[in-house]
Amino acid sequence: MARVFNFSAGPATLPESVLAQVRDDMLDWQGSGMSVMEMSHRGPEFVSIAEQATQDLRTLLAVPDNYRILFLQGGATAQFAGVPLNLPGDRADYIVTGNWGKKAHKEAGKYLDARVAATGDDGFTSIPAQSDWDLDAASRYVHITPNETIQGVEFPNDPDLGSDVPLVADMSSNFLSRPVDVSRYGVIYAGAQKNAGPAGICMVIVRDDLLGHAAPATPMVLDWQAQLEADSMLNTPSCFAWYVCGLVFRWLLDNGGLETMAATNARKASRLYDFIDQSDFYRNPVDPAARSRMNVPFLLADDGLDKTFLSEAGEAGLSSLKGHRSVGGMRASIYNAMPEAGVEALIDFMRDFEQRNG
Ligand code: PMP
Repeated sequence: MARVFNFSAGPATLPESVLAQVRDDMLDWQGSGMSVMEMSHRGPEFVSIAEQATQDLRTLLAVPDNYRILFLQGGATAQFAGVPLNLPGDRADYIVTGNWGKKAHKEAGKYLDARVAATGDDGFTSIPAQSDWDLDAASRYVHITPNETIQGVEFPNDPDLGSDVPLVADMSSNFLSRPVDVSRYGVIYAGAQKNAGPAGICMVIVRDDLLGHAAPATPMVLDWQAQLEADSMLNTPSCFAWYVCGLVFRWLLDNGGLETMAATNARKASRLYDFIDQSDFYRNPVDPAARSRMNVPFLLADDGLDKTFLSEAGEAGLSSLKGHRSVGGMRASIYNAMPEAGVEALIDFMRDFEQRNG
């Protein structure tokens, strides 16, 4: 069996040791005589899996005691509605720095006056300076997308709003890639299928004072307080995805936690950006100060070579490098589970391709 280096933006590559553990547990999880997929979510076995995963996530991210952690279905997209429904008000401010922020903003507009308080340039290649954000002091919250998966644009650090207005972040594509000062945020949410596990589950981390205010028409599965009271099991949760996330959290803890992950991720990203920058054959259009350490889009000087690049990369065991259809070109997603050897293999291939076609 040959595993490829998989640069998919999500669902994305998972640590091989996690997959091996899933395989070993498949028919008989810890002597229970059944797989995790077959257990009652109310039984002691699954409850222990869920509790351990929640505790490990709290440890990993250093989540303060006054925040709750939920594991919900519906992906990050459900929370595009969940946020304004749980934080109802007249208006909210959105900092739109790419396609996902745009979607979050559009969905919120169904429930309140969603303002675009700041946005990147046309092609979303930068992060507007905080001093240029046109925030409304009466807004219920400020929403950001710290990493835009499609454009490869990332906030360099956790913004400090310096006000009582809660900061809400869709961290789907850089969750657990580095330490985060959770106390800067009122709400953090993140779909699992990039850095945390398989698709089908979304983690929501909410500060206590933001719970219990849901609009009356909020669907009960989206009501954070109702889900908290039910331990995220108001209905059947995404049991298997929750379990795999738990294994990924363990893998992170066993491998030095988020500080170590951040250092490795910075190294991987700068190797790739440095290579792209020294070449006239490849180009990354993003402002260097806002470049994502997770998703690295790049264009070939001659886009007539895109197809050949992708097919030869595939033959070399480098998979899923096609850029999002809205921006074209290539995109290498290099999440936590992408080993440094994968980035080196990509650079070697790119160098060789350039020599043969440049
Ligand atoms: N936000 C971001 C930043 C994403 O990258 C994605 C998925 N690519 C989403 C939201 C949507 O996530 P889901 O498909 O889990 O709803």
